[in-house]
Amino acid sequence: MAPAEDNVVVPHKKLEKLLSMKGGKGEASYVNNSQAQAQHARSMLHLLKDTLDVVQLNSPETPFAVADLGCSCGSNTLFIVDVIIKHMIKRYEALGYDEPPEFSAFFSDLPSNDFNTLFQLLPPYGGSMEECLASDSHRSYFAAGVPGSFYRRLFPARSVDFFYSAFSLHWLSQVPDGVVDNRSAAYNKGRIFIHGANEITADAYRKQFQTDLAGFLRSRSVEMKRGGSMFLACLGKTSLDPTDQGGAGLLFGADFQDAWDDLVREGLITSEKRDKFNIPVYAPSLQDFKEVVEADGSFVINKLEVFKGGSPLVVNHPDDAAEVGRALANSCRSISGVLVDAHLGDHLSEELFSRVQRRATSHAKDILEHLQFFHIIASLSLAI
Ligand code: SAH
Repeated sequence: MAPAEDNVVVPHKKLEKLLSMKGGKGEASYVNNSQAQAQHARSMLHLLKDTLDVVQLNSPETPFAVADLGCSCGSNTLFIVDVIIKHMIKRYEALGYDEPPEFSAFFSDLPSNDFNTLFQLLPPYGGSMEECLASDSHRSYFAAGVPGSFYRRLFPARSVDFFYSAFSLHWLSQVPDGVVDNRSAAYNKGRIFIHGANEITADAYRKQFQTDLAGFLRSRSVEMKRGGSMFLACLGKTSLDPTDQGGAGLLFGADFQDAWDDLVREGLITSEKRDKFNIPVYAPSLQDFKEVVEADGSFVINKLEVFKGGSPLVVNHPDDAAEVGRALANSCRSISGVLVDAHLGDHLSEELFSRVQRRATSHAKDILEHLQFFHIIASLSLAI
Protein backbone atom coordinates (compact mmCIF):
# COMPACT_ATOMS: atom_id res chain seq x y z
CA MET A 1 0.00 0.00 0.00
CA ALA A 2 1.31 3.45 -0.86
CA PRO A 3 1.89 5.65 2.16
CA ALA A 4 -0.28 8.72 2.63
CA GLU A 5 1.24 11.95 1.36
CA ASP A 6 3.32 13.40 4.13
CA ASN A 7 4.56 16.91 4.59
CA VAL A 8 8.06 16.72 3.16
CA VAL A 9 7.25 18.11 -0.28
CA VAL A 10 9.79 20.85 -0.98
CA PRO A 11 8.08 24.15 -1.63
CA HIS A 12 9.98 24.76 -4.83
CA LYS A 13 10.23 28.51 -4.45
CA LYS A 14 12.19 27.96 -1.27
CA LEU A 15 14.87 26.15 -3.21
CA GLU A 16 17.55 28.68 -2.42
CA LYS A 17 17.05 28.11 1.30
CA LEU A 18 17.58 24.40 0.86
CA LEU A 19 19.86 23.66 -2.06
CA SER A 20 23.40 22.63 -1.45
CA MET A 21 25.74 19.89 -2.48
CA LYS A 22 26.06 17.14 0.11
CA GLY A 23 28.18 18.53 2.92
CA GLY A 24 30.59 16.78 5.29
CA LYS A 25 33.17 14.22 4.28
CA GLY A 26 31.08 11.03 3.93
CA GLU A 27 31.00 8.58 1.01
CA ALA A 28 28.34 10.54 -0.93
CA SER A 29 29.63 14.01 0.05
CA TYR A 30 30.55 16.61 -2.56
CA VAL A 31 34.08 16.74 -1.16
CA ASN A 32 34.50 13.07 -2.04
CA ASN A 33 32.66 13.17 -5.35
CA SER A 34 33.94 16.22 -7.15
CA GLN A 35 37.13 14.91 -8.71
CA ALA A 36 35.50 14.98 -12.14
CA GLN A 37 34.65 18.67 -11.71
CA ALA A 38 38.27 19.22 -10.66
CA GLN A 39 39.50 17.52 -13.83
CA HIS A 40 37.08 19.46 -16.01
CA ALA A 41 38.15 22.74 -14.40
CA ARG A 42 41.81 21.88 -14.97
CA SER A 43 41.16 21.19 -18.64
CA MET A 44 39.84 24.75 -18.96
CA LEU A 45 42.69 26.51 -17.14
CA HIS A 46 44.14 27.96 -20.35
CA LEU A 47 40.78 29.63 -21.06
CA LEU A 48 40.58 30.93 -17.51
CA LYS A 49 44.11 32.38 -17.82
CA ASP A 50 43.23 34.03 -21.12
CA THR A 51 40.40 35.79 -19.32
CA LEU A 52 42.69 36.80 -16.44
CA ASP A 53 45.02 38.35 -18.99
CA VAL A 54 42.39 40.87 -20.05
CA VAL A 55 41.60 42.08 -16.52
CA GLN A 56 42.73 45.66 -16.11
CA LEU A 57 45.33 46.07 -13.37
CA ASN A 58 44.90 48.83 -10.83
CA SER A 59 47.68 50.32 -8.79
CA PRO A 60 48.96 47.81 -6.19
CA GLU A 61 47.68 50.06 -3.41
CA THR A 62 44.16 48.94 -4.26
CA PRO A 63 43.30 45.41 -3.09
CA PHE A 64 42.39 42.98 -5.85
CA ALA A 65 39.09 41.13 -5.24
CA VAL A 66 38.18 37.73 -6.64
CA ALA A 67 34.86 35.94 -6.09
CA ASP A 68 33.96 32.31 -6.75
CA LEU A 69 30.20 32.04 -7.15
CA GLY A 70 28.76 28.61 -6.37
CA CYS A 71 32.01 27.58 -4.68
CA SER A 72 30.49 24.61 -2.80
CA CYS A 73 32.49 23.01 -0.01
CA GLY A 74 35.28 21.02 -1.64
CA SER A 75 38.85 21.80 -2.45
CA ASN A 76 38.09 22.71 -6.09
CA THR A 77 37.37 26.31 -5.20
CA LEU A 78 40.61 26.60 -3.21
CA PHE A 79 42.61 25.26 -6.11
CA ILE A 80 41.04 27.70 -8.57
CA VAL A 81 41.33 30.76 -6.35
CA ASP A 82 44.98 29.92 -5.89
CA VAL A 83 45.49 29.65 -9.66
CA ILE A 84 43.77 32.98 -10.21
CA ILE A 85 45.77 34.85 -7.59
CA LYS A 86 49.13 33.34 -8.58
CA HIS A 87 48.41 34.30 -12.18
CA MET A 88 47.57 37.87 -11.20
CA ILE A 89 50.71 38.14 -9.07
CA LYS A 90 52.75 37.13 -12.12
CA ARG A 91 51.05 39.82 -14.16
CA TYR A 92 51.92 42.49 -11.58
CA GLU A 93 55.51 41.24 -11.47
CA ALA A 94 55.74 41.34 -15.25
CA LEU A 95 54.81 45.01 -15.09
CA GLY A 96 57.74 45.60 -12.77
CA TYR A 97 55.83 46.21 -9.53
CA ASP A 98 57.91 45.22 -6.48
CA GLU A 99 54.87 44.29 -4.43
CA PRO A 100 51.64 42.91 -5.81
CA PRO A 101 48.42 44.21 -4.25
CA GLU A 102 46.75 42.44 -1.35
CA PHE A 103 44.11 39.99 -2.47
CA SER A 104 40.70 39.18 -1.08
CA ALA A 105 38.88 36.04 -2.12
CA PHE A 106 35.15 35.71 -1.60
CA PHE A 107 33.73 32.23 -1.44
CA SER A 108 30.06 32.51 -2.26
CA ASP A 109 27.26 29.98 -2.28
CA LEU A 110 23.74 29.51 -0.98
CA PRO A 111 23.38 29.77 2.81
CA SER A 112 22.95 26.01 3.32
CA ASN A 113 26.33 25.32 1.73
CA ASP A 114 28.72 23.57 4.11
CA PHE A 115 30.97 26.59 4.63
CA ASN A 116 32.43 24.99 7.76
CA THR A 117 33.97 22.14 5.79
CA LEU A 118 35.27 24.63 3.25
CA PHE A 119 36.80 26.95 5.84
CA GLN A 120 38.50 24.02 7.53
CA LEU A 121 40.24 23.20 4.24
CA LEU A 122 41.62 26.73 3.94
CA PRO A 123 45.35 26.90 4.56
CA PRO A 124 46.44 29.60 7.01
CA TYR A 125 47.12 33.08 5.70
CA GLY A 126 50.80 33.31 4.92
CA GLY A 127 51.65 36.73 6.26
CA SER A 128 54.12 38.27 3.84
CA MET A 129 53.76 37.66 0.15
CA GLU A 130 57.26 36.13 0.00
CA GLU A 131 56.24 33.57 2.59
CA CYS A 132 53.14 32.65 0.60
CA LEU A 133 54.94 32.30 -2.64
CA ALA A 134 57.67 30.25 -1.01
CA SER A 135 55.26 27.75 0.43
CA ASP A 136 52.22 26.02 -0.99
CA SER A 137 50.89 25.39 2.47
CA HIS A 138 50.01 29.06 2.91
CA ARG A 139 47.47 31.16 1.17
CA SER A 140 48.17 34.55 -0.25
CA TYR A 141 44.76 36.12 0.20
CA PHE A 142 42.25 37.17 2.80
CA ALA A 143 39.20 34.89 2.71
CA ALA A 144 35.54 35.52 3.35
CA GLY A 145 32.34 33.55 2.87
CA VAL A 146 29.41 35.26 1.16
CA PRO A 147 26.06 33.50 1.57
CA GLY A 148 23.30 34.24 -0.94
CA SER A 149 21.95 33.55 -4.39
CA PHE A 150 24.10 34.64 -7.30
CA TYR A 151 20.93 35.51 -9.16
CA ARG A 152 20.80 38.65 -7.03
CA ARG A 153 23.24 41.21 -5.64
CA LEU A 154 25.94 39.81 -3.37
CA PHE A 155 28.59 42.57 -3.30
CA PRO A 156 28.76 46.37 -3.15
CA ALA A 157 28.82 48.20 -6.46
CA ARG A 158 32.19 48.27 -8.31
CA SER A 159 33.99 46.16 -5.72
CA VAL A 160 35.05 42.94 -7.49
CA ASP A 161 37.79 42.63 -10.14
CA PHE A 162 37.22 39.06 -11.19
CA PHE A 163 34.30 36.64 -10.93
CA TYR A 164 34.64 32.91 -11.44
CA SER A 165 31.78 30.44 -11.48
CA ALA A 166 32.07 26.78 -12.42
CA PHE A 167 29.42 24.09 -12.75
CA SER A 168 26.80 26.15 -10.94
CA LEU A 169 24.80 28.29 -13.37
CA HIS A 170 22.82 25.30 -14.66
CA TRP A 171 21.10 25.24 -11.26
CA LEU A 172 17.85 27.16 -11.64
CA SER A 173 16.55 29.45 -8.93
CA GLN A 174 13.37 27.36 -8.86
CA VAL A 175 11.49 24.62 -10.67
CA PRO A 176 9.20 26.61 -12.98
CA ASP A 177 5.72 26.81 -11.43
CA GLY A 178 3.76 24.96 -14.12
CA VAL A 179 6.10 21.98 -14.10
CA VAL A 180 4.76 20.59 -10.83
CA ASP A 181 1.18 21.83 -11.25
CA ASN A 182 -1.13 19.14 -12.63
CA ARG A 183 -3.45 21.80 -14.11
CA SER A 184 -0.69 23.28 -16.22
CA ALA A 185 0.25 22.35 -19.79
CA ALA A 186 3.87 22.35 -18.56
CA TYR A 187 3.14 19.64 -15.93
CA ASN A 188 5.99 17.13 -16.13
CA LYS A 189 3.89 14.06 -15.57
CA GLY A 190 5.82 10.89 -14.85
CA ARG A 191 9.20 12.58 -14.90
CA ILE A 192 11.62 14.10 -12.46
CA PHE A 193 13.71 15.87 -15.11
CA ILE A 194 13.04 17.43 -18.51
CA HIS A 195 15.17 15.08 -20.55
CA GLY A 196 12.67 13.58 -23.01
CA ALA A 197 9.80 15.62 -21.53
CA ASN A 198 7.27 17.45 -23.68
CA GLU A 199 8.26 20.67 -25.36
CA ILE A 200 6.13 22.97 -23.22
CA THR A 201 7.76 21.67 -20.05
CA ALA A 202 11.25 21.97 -21.49
CA ASP A 203 10.47 25.46 -22.70
CA ALA A 204 9.42 26.50 -19.20
CA TYR A 205 12.84 25.32 -18.00
CA ARG A 206 14.62 27.16 -20.79
CA LYS A 207 12.77 30.39 -19.94
CA GLN A 208 13.59 29.98 -16.26
CA PHE A 209 17.25 29.51 -17.14
CA GLN A 210 17.27 32.65 -19.25
CA THR A 211 15.45 34.73 -16.62
CA ASP A 212 17.91 33.53 -13.98
CA LEU A 213 20.99 34.17 -16.12
CA ALA A 214 19.70 37.66 -16.88
CA GLY A 215 19.49 38.33 -13.11
CA PHE A 216 23.02 37.00 -12.67
CA LEU A 217 24.47 39.25 -15.36
CA ARG A 218 22.55 42.30 -14.16
CA SER A 219 23.91 41.86 -10.64
CA ARG A 220 27.50 41.25 -11.77
CA SER A 221 27.44 44.24 -14.08
CA VAL A 222 26.85 46.44 -11.04
CA GLU A 223 29.34 44.70 -8.77
CA MET A 224 32.23 44.39 -11.18
CA LYS A 225 34.93 47.04 -11.13
CA ARG A 226 35.55 48.85 -14.39
CA GLY A 227 38.11 46.83 -16.32
CA GLY A 228 36.96 43.64 -14.60
CA SER A 229 36.15 40.29 -16.21
CA MET A 230 34.59 36.96 -15.45
CA PHE A 231 34.95 33.34 -16.41
CA LEU A 232 31.82 31.19 -16.32
CA ALA A 233 31.39 27.49 -16.99
CA CYS A 234 28.18 25.53 -16.63
CA LEU A 235 26.67 22.34 -17.97
CA GLY A 236 25.68 22.76 -21.58
CA LYS A 237 24.71 20.73 -24.57
CA THR A 238 25.28 20.62 -28.27
CA SER A 239 21.65 20.02 -29.31
CA LEU A 240 19.28 22.95 -29.79
CA ASP A 241 16.35 20.86 -28.59
CA PRO A 242 15.67 21.78 -24.92
CA THR A 243 14.22 18.30 -24.24
CA ASP A 244 17.62 16.82 -25.08
CA GLN A 245 19.73 17.55 -22.02
CA GLY A 246 22.81 15.66 -23.18
CA GLY A 247 25.00 14.34 -20.34
CA ALA A 248 22.75 15.88 -17.69
CA GLY A 249 19.89 13.97 -19.34
CA LEU A 250 21.73 10.70 -18.84
CA LEU A 251 22.60 11.52 -15.24
CA PHE A 252 19.09 12.53 -14.16
CA GLY A 253 16.88 11.07 -16.89
CA ALA A 254 17.98 7.42 -16.93
CA ASP A 255 18.83 5.31 -13.83
CA PHE A 256 17.79 8.11 -11.50
CA GLN A 257 14.40 8.43 -13.23
CA ASP A 258 13.98 4.64 -13.32
CA ALA A 259 14.73 4.39 -9.60
CA TRP A 260 11.92 6.87 -8.86
CA ASP A 261 9.65 4.73 -11.02
CA ASP A 262 10.75 1.67 -9.02
CA LEU A 263 9.63 3.34 -5.80
CA VAL A 264 6.23 4.05 -7.35
CA ARG A 265 5.89 0.54 -8.78
CA GLU A 266 6.86 -1.00 -5.45
CA GLY A 267 4.23 1.11 -3.71
CA LEU A 268 6.76 3.00 -1.59
CA ILE A 269 5.61 6.38 -2.92
CA THR A 270 2.65 7.56 -4.99
CA SER A 271 3.12 8.67 -8.58
CA GLU A 272 1.99 12.18 -7.52
CA LYS A 273 4.78 12.27 -4.97
CA ARG A 274 7.29 11.45 -7.71
CA ASP A 275 5.78 13.99 -10.09
CA LYS A 276 6.12 16.75 -7.51
CA PHE A 277 9.88 16.27 -7.54
CA ASN A 278 11.83 17.85 -10.38
CA ILE A 279 15.55 18.47 -10.66
CA PRO A 280 16.02 22.24 -11.03
CA VAL A 281 18.82 21.94 -13.58
CA TYR A 282 18.89 23.15 -17.16
CA ALA A 283 21.84 22.52 -19.49
CA PRO A 284 21.60 25.35 -22.02
CA SER A 285 22.66 25.39 -25.65
CA LEU A 286 25.17 28.00 -26.73
CA GLN A 287 22.29 29.87 -28.32
CA ASP A 288 20.23 29.90 -25.08
CA PHE A 289 23.21 31.42 -23.27
CA LYS A 290 24.24 33.88 -25.94
CA GLU A 291 20.78 35.39 -26.29
CA VAL A 292 20.85 36.45 -22.64
CA VAL A 293 24.37 37.90 -22.73
CA GLU A 294 23.51 39.91 -25.83
CA ALA A 295 20.17 41.13 -24.49
CA ASP A 296 21.87 42.25 -21.26
CA GLY A 297 24.48 44.18 -23.22
CA SER A 298 26.73 45.02 -20.26
CA PHE A 299 29.50 42.63 -21.24
CA VAL A 300 31.88 42.21 -24.13
CA ILE A 301 32.14 38.56 -25.15
CA ASN A 302 35.79 37.49 -25.28
CA LYS A 303 34.83 33.88 -25.76
CA LEU A 304 31.61 31.88 -25.67
CA GLU A 305 31.76 28.26 -26.68
CA VAL A 306 30.74 24.70 -25.95
CA PHE A 307 33.60 22.75 -24.44
CA LYS A 308 33.80 18.96 -24.13
CA GLY A 309 34.19 18.20 -20.45
CA GLY A 310 34.33 14.40 -20.28
CA SER A 311 32.75 11.94 -17.89
CA PRO A 312 31.37 13.04 -14.52
CA LEU A 313 32.63 9.76 -13.07
CA VAL A 314 36.12 9.06 -11.84
CA VAL A 315 36.72 5.34 -11.30
CA ASN A 316 39.89 3.40 -10.57
CA HIS A 317 38.78 0.17 -12.24
CA PRO A 318 36.55 0.81 -15.25
CA ASP A 319 35.95 -2.95 -15.63
CA ASP A 320 34.54 -3.21 -12.14
CA ALA A 321 30.78 -2.76 -12.71
CA ALA A 322 30.11 -2.47 -8.97
CA GLU A 323 32.56 0.43 -8.68
CA VAL A 324 31.01 2.21 -11.65
CA GLY A 325 27.50 1.71 -10.21
CA ARG A 326 28.62 3.04 -6.84
CA ALA A 327 30.35 6.02 -8.46
CA LEU A 328 27.24 6.96 -10.42
CA ALA A 329 24.97 6.67 -7.38
CA ASN A 330 27.39 8.64 -5.19
CA SER A 331 27.90 11.31 -7.80
CA CYS A 332 24.17 11.70 -8.31
CA ARG A 333 23.62 11.75 -4.56
CA SER A 334 26.38 14.26 -3.85
CA ILE A 335 24.59 16.82 -6.03
CA SER A 336 20.89 15.95 -5.70
CA GLY A 337 20.85 14.13 -2.34
CA VAL A 338 19.96 17.15 -0.26
CA LEU A 339 16.86 17.81 -2.41
CA VAL A 340 15.87 14.14 -2.46
CA ASP A 341 16.27 13.82 1.33
CA ALA A 342 14.01 16.84 1.79
CA HIS A 343 11.37 15.41 -0.53
CA LEU A 344 11.38 11.77 0.53
CA GLY A 345 12.97 11.71 3.97
CA ASP A 346 16.22 9.89 4.75
CA HIS A 347 14.87 6.34 4.65
CA LEU A 348 13.23 6.50 1.21
CA SER A 349 16.15 8.52 -0.12
CA GLU A 350 18.41 5.62 0.88
CA GLU A 351 16.05 3.23 -0.94
CA LEU A 352 16.11 5.43 -4.03
CA PHE A 353 19.88 5.68 -4.32
CA SER A 354 20.36 1.97 -3.66
CA ARG A 355 18.15 1.38 -6.73
CA VAL A 356 20.14 3.94 -8.74
CA GLN A 357 23.29 2.01 -7.81
CA ARG A 358 21.82 -1.39 -8.67
CA ARG A 359 20.57 -0.18 -12.03
CA ALA A 360 23.84 1.59 -12.87
CA THR A 361 25.86 -1.51 -11.94
CA SER A 362 23.81 -3.59 -14.35
CA HIS A 363 24.87 -1.50 -17.36
CA ALA A 364 28.17 -0.03 -16.20
CA LYS A 365 29.92 -0.39 -19.55
CA ASP A 366 27.22 1.55 -21.30
CA ILE A 367 27.44 4.36 -18.70
CA LEU A 368 31.19 4.74 -19.05
CA GLU A 369 30.82 4.85 -22.81
CA HIS A 370 27.98 7.35 -23.08
CA LEU A 371 27.94 9.57 -20.00
CA GLN A 372 29.80 12.64 -21.22
CA PHE A 373 29.38 16.24 -20.17
CA PHE A 374 29.65 19.32 -22.31
CA HIS A 375 30.10 22.75 -20.79
CA ILE A 376 29.29 26.23 -21.93
CA ILE A 377 32.22 28.47 -21.17
CA ALA A 378 31.96 32.23 -21.25
CA SER A 379 34.73 34.78 -20.90
CA LEU A 380 33.15 38.21 -20.43
CA SER A 381 34.51 41.67 -19.69
CA LEU A 382 32.57 44.65 -18.49
CA ALA A 383 31.76 46.94 -21.40
CA ILE A 384 32.47 50.57 -20.64
N1 SAH B 1 32.24 25.41 -8.25
C1 SAH B 1 32.36 24.17 -7.51
C2 SAH B 1 31.00 23.60 -7.10
C3 SAH B 1 29.99 23.32 -8.15
S1 SAH B 1 28.55 22.56 -7.46
C4 SAH B 1 33.23 23.21 -8.24
O1 SAH B 1 33.77 23.57 -9.27
O2 SAH B 1 33.44 22.08 -7.79
C5 SAH B 1 27.33 23.81 -7.75
C6 SAH B 1 27.21 24.81 -6.63
O3 SAH B 1 26.36 25.87 -7.05
C7 SAH B 1 26.58 24.24 -5.38
O4 SAH B 1 27.42 24.42 -4.29
C8 SAH B 1 25.28 25.00 -5.24
O5 SAH B 1 24.89 25.22 -3.90
C9 SAH B 1 25.62 26.30 -5.93
N2 SAH B 1 24.44 27.05 -6.36
C10 SAH B 1 23.35 26.61 -7.03
N3 SAH B 1 22.47 27.59 -7.20
C11 SAH B 1 23.01 28.71 -6.64
C12 SAH B 1 22.57 30.07 -6.49
N4 SAH B 1 21.39 30.46 -6.96
N5 SAH B 1 23.37 30.93 -5.85
C13 SAH B 1 24.58 30.53 -5.38
N6 SAH B 1 25.05 29.27 -5.48
C14 SAH B 1 24.27 28.36 -6.11
